[in-house]
Amino acid sequence: MKQTHNDCKEEPGLLVPVIDLNACEGKGPCIDVCPYHVLEMDSISDDTYKHLSFFGKLKTAVHGRDKAQVIKPDLCHSCGLCVTVCPEKAIKLKRR
Ligand code: SF4
Repeated sequence: MKQTHNDCKEEPGLLVPVIDLNACEGKGPCIDVCPYHVLEMDSISDDTYKHLSFFGKLKTAVHGRDKAQVIKPDLCHSCGLCVTVCPEKAIKLKRR
């Protein structure tokens, strides 16, 4: 059954998405699926790039520096849609 944002049960901001930047390939379905515009695609900084793992840097070389970023964590309703839709399994919801 397809989940909608009406299925969200948590208070906004209790859980927040955490992006594994070593896994994210910047494909962006998480951006499109989020009903609350919590995420956006943006290029990672040189400093963030420096701290990626070997495989993270390899992925970034192939797919570019655009990766999902959490811009409005307070608006996350913990619906899990972004977690489900990510083809790289790069998103987890974590308690603040
Ligand atoms: S769980 Fe993901 S899709 Fe759902 S509100 Fe939070 S960031 Fe948006």
